[in-house]
Order: sequence, then structure tokens, then C-alpha cells
Amino acid sequence: MGWEKRVRRVVPYVPGEQPKESGIIKLNTNENPYPPSGAVRIAMDAINEGKLRLYPDPAASELVGAIAEVYGLSEKEVFVGVGSDDVLAMAFMTFFHSGEPILFPDITYSFYDVWADLLRIPYEKQPLDGDFHIDPEDYKKPNGGIVFPNPNAPTGAFLPLQYVEEIVAANPDSVVIVDEAYVDFGGESALPLIRKYDNLMIAQTFSKSRSLAGLRIGFAMGNEKLIAYLNDVKYSFNSYTMNRPAIALASAAVRDEGHFEECCRKIIATREKAQEDFRTLGFRLEDSCANFVFVTHPDADAETIFNYLKSRKIYVRWFNKPRIRNYLRITIGTDGEMEHLMTVLAECPGIAERLSGREQDGIRTE
Ligand SMILES: *Cc1c(COP(=O)(O)O)cnc(C)c1O
Repeated sequence: MGWEKRVRRVVPYVPGEQPKESGIIKLNTNENPYPPSGAVRIAMDAINEGKLRLYPDPAASELVGAIAEVYGLSEKEVFVGVGSDDVLAMAFMTFFHSGEPILFPDITYSFYDVWADLLRIPYEKQPLDGDFHIDPEDYKKPNGGIVFPNPNAPTGAFLPLQYVEEIVAANPDSVVIVDEAYVDFGGESALPLIRKYDNLMIAQTFSKSRSLAGLRIGFAMGNEKLIAYLNDVKYSFNSYTMNRPAIALASAAVRDEGHFEECCRKIIATREKAQEDFRTLGFRLEDSCANFVFVTHPDADAETIFNYLKSRKIYVRWFNKPRIRNYLRITIGTDGEMEHLMTVLAECPGIAERLSGREQDGIRTE
């Protein structure tokens, strides 16, 4: 098959499993356990009346306008896409075009190296320190661009804004992308910095904090010129990335700030309680600023716990990768789901022995 040598060959990103079985507690892909804003249902009725015969607005102005209003920006400072994966892929294509290596952490969102490979962008991974934190000094060397999530995934660690600013300020000749997929769960957005630095792009998503993973809505915020470059690439690829239902439903959702704040508050409260419970079971973890925790256990290896939980119909995420092979990333579900998780974990081989050993020795759990 001679044509195969002309094929673009890539090792694709592997998303978390989407089980077909019912009765699963699904804590493996950082979805929100609560339903989206009630306003989404009302907007859905409007779609049923049917304008689907017609192409959508290529600029998705209704949604861009709603995001701009809620975040206090001009419409020219906002770009929307089919989930932040689409926004980030467009941004890689647009801003990382110099041929010089881009920089991102060694432990991070596993789509970055996939896009870089796909688009033939050279990259250099910067190792997180022993506690899995980003060292801003690693990002003060010649580069073709920088990208990192804040809070980082899958660690949940937040890099304080002063360090984000240091990185952006040290790199006026390349674009710095801060992927804020989880910022609503306890981080602080770098958004105020976009008016100070024209090389900063912020990406956010409706998939996590707005309970709309199924709709595929992401957005970027940055100065007008940067957003205009993104739109040029988008219109050269596909004019109609955002479909009519997505534009209508996401516009309704973003305007319902009360529902959004209430959901985030609940998830943060559940996370704080879950972190205590994990520690009681002997897990080691750093405080998370996201809607997931990143945990390891001294007496049970992560792969064993992962398979054990799966056999008990609880899905979490295990990455078979250097440095993090013995960690699990567990999404924060409802209080009920987390209580069930803790009960099941207490029966897991390794963890159970540790707990009963402690009882026998009369040692209190940490
Ligand atoms: C979930 C996630 C995304 C992508 O989310 P979309 O569903 O495509 O909007 C991007 N970056 C990070 C770090 C994520 O965890």
C-alpha cells in the first residue's frame, strides 16, 4: 500500500472511558455531577421550533456577546469553539508557528503533546518539581510559545497569579496560553492581565463548571489582535464550528450566574470533605483547587485500586505514565457518590489491611 507513506501518522489522545453500562458511578472524566442551568431547557424548546434547516451564525455572536457581557469584555476579546479542545487546537495552529520549541509541563493535560505532534510543532517538556508544582524559572528561556493549565491537570495544583504574570511578562515575543478549564473551582483567573499583556490567551470551557460537557463549548479571551488571528485560522478551516443548539443553550447557561456559583460552591464543599476522608483512609494528596483530586496510597498501588473500583462499578482515571503511575485522578461527584466511594475504598485490598492494622494497634488514623 504505497499511499500509506503519504499519511499523517499520529499517536492520538486517549480520552477517559465513557461506559455503556448503567449503574456506574462515573468519576473518571471530571464532569459536573449536577445538571446545567434550568435556562438551558427553555432555550432547548426554542430550538424545537426548528431553524435547523439554516446554517448557524458563523460568528456565534449571541454566545460571544453573552460571554463578553458576563466577563466584562468587548466582543472582540472573545473567541468561541467546539469545547476548549477545539479552541486550544486552533490556538496551537495559530500562535505556535515559529518552528521553535514550545514549552509545557511534563505532567499536564495529555492533549498538548498530541496537538504538537499532529501539527509538527517542536516542544520541550518542563519537569514539575517533586511536589508537582510549576517552577516559573523553567519558562524564562527562548521558546516558540508556552501553554499550561491553571489549576494544572491532573494534579489540581494552582500556580499563584504573580507567577503566571512573571511568565507572561518574561515572554513578550511569544504567546502564553493559560488553560483555565478548572479555574472556577478555586483558582484565580488571569483574565485581568489580558489588558496589560497582549501575548496572553486564556482558555476556558463550559464542560466542567457549567455542566455542559455534552454540548462542546469552549472559549478564549485575549486582546483584540490575538482574537482576530484566531478567527482568521478558524474561518480558513470551518466557518460553522458552533451549531445553532449549542449557541442558544450555551448563551442561556452563561447568563445564569446564580446556578453556576451554587454548583461550584457545592463541589468545593464536597471536595474539602472528600480530601479529609481520603487522608483518613491513608491516601497522600495535596490540596486540590479543581473538581478532582490526585491521590496515591502507600499500601496499595494505583492500578490495583483502579481495577478494584472498576469491579465495584466506580470509574476513576489512572494514567500509565512516568512519575504518575502510582496516582489516581478522581473527579468530585455528589456527596452521596463520594460517601459510597469511601465505603468501597475502605474495603480495597491494601487499604482495608492498613485500617484494620491500625485498629488492632490502637493507632488512630491521621
Ligand atoms: C477538560 C479539559 C479541557 C477540554 O475541555 P473541553 O471539554 O474540550 O472544553 C481542556 N484542558 C484541560 C486541562 C481539561 O482538563
